[in-house]
Amino acid sequence: MTQQFVTILGSTGSIGTSTLDLIRAHGEKFKIRALIAGSNVELLIEQALAFKPEMVAIHDETRFDRLREGLKGSGVEIVAGRSGVLEAAALNTDICVAAIVGLAGLEPLMTALPHCRKLLIANKEPLVAAGPIVMRAAYQCDTKIIPLDSEHNAIFQVFEDDNRDQIDKLILTASGGPFRTWPIEKMNLATPDQAIAHPNWSMGKKISVDSASMVNKALEIIEANQLFGLSPTQIEVIIHPQSIIHSMVEYRDGSVLAQMGAPDMRTPIAYALAYPNRMETTGKTINWATLKQLDFEEPDHIKFPALRIAYSCIALGGAACIALNAANEAAVEHYLNGKIAFGRIIPWIEEAINLAIDQPAPATIPDVIELDQMIRHHLVA
Ligand code: NAD
Ligand code: MG
Repeated sequence: MTQQFVTILGSTGSIGTSTLDLIRAHGEKFKIRALIAGSNVELLIEQALAFKPEMVAIHDETRFDRLREGLKGSGVEIVAGRSGVLEAAALNTDICVAAIVGLAGLEPLMTALPHCRKLLIANKEPLVAAGPIVMRAAYQCDTKIIPLDSEHNAIFQVFEDDNRDQIDKLILTASGGPFRTWPIEKMNLATPDQAIAHPNWSMGKKISVDSASMVNKALEIIEANQLFGLSPTQIEVIIHPQSIIHSMVEYRDGSVLAQMGAPDMRTPIAYALAYPNRMETTGKTINWATLKQLDFEEPDHIKFPALRIAYSCIALGGAACIALNAANEAAVEHYLNGKIAFGRIIPWIEEAINLAIDQPAPATIPDVIELDQMIRHHLVA
């Protein structure tokens, strides 16, 4: 079997390092073309020495000298800054893994799209803010998009494309996050440490806070709408605290196809890397005998208004989706820096959507970024 080249946008993060774990274990199948990171220069050096890519890129230019020193004599080409990130993203590769956090991943993802055959997307924010542009570009470049987000990866695995008109609905599962059983008053004052302590998944800080506010599920409703092209009325959310069923597709004959697995991102990443084949992972598997029960409950829309906000953003259009994402990114950053309370995240989002309500949906990537920046600058902690 010939080795496939892999580029990772966001190699030092939670998804990036899990992807590299799998690539290390399947060295005969994959070879790294480029690694791209934000500012974690020490981990990037370690990864570059271990995987010997052709190029590494670091977004934070102040780390360039340290990167050069750490990779002296290695033969790895080093670039930095926005232009460096885009240069590395533009190298031809078989598989590109989009695992940068936030809308910062949009330009690298769009740059990589024409230069890879499979684009594995964990980075959901670009799909929320610029879904139609990303999906059209993938279609035009004939690049296969495979979602890594566990819910969308689950749906992808059981979605019968030839029977798409026979699908009644997509059912996204949600763990409910760390505050599922907390009273609303206590949740609104929760500390960042409490918010990032997810009960089932180990993830980066931003998505962990999003899971606690359930904005993550709101982003995922929009993500599902963009990836699978079904109407929002066909997308439902159910709380499933054990995170064993990762999502489901219900067909018109009443059959429900679900994908299950232990809550370990290495399973969806392995699926996507090997697609259309399968490969082993070193991750956990389900012990059915000790599992005993799977629970389900309706989401609490009073405590978690984010889900309803997602549906109204889809109805309002592209500008509202950009506003939702931009305000959330800004609010989460301020929350993690101790500048605003957890309970301020949703009001910020609502304020931003009101700002964008009369704006047309931007048609180009620079227009998406401009509106995103306008929203972020308008909101002051
Ligand atoms: P993380 O914070 O752990 O990692 C983010 C990565 O992006 C790091 O490598 C960082 O250096 C890099 N980065 C940040 N800004 C950058 C920039 N401007 N240019 C280049 N690189 C930059 O985040 P994560 O938890 O791995 O999540 C990544 C994405 O995947 C997010 O969009 C998240 O919503 C999605 N996702 C994550 C998980 C998970 O289990 N972690 C699950 C589903 C979806
Ligand atoms: Mg998810």
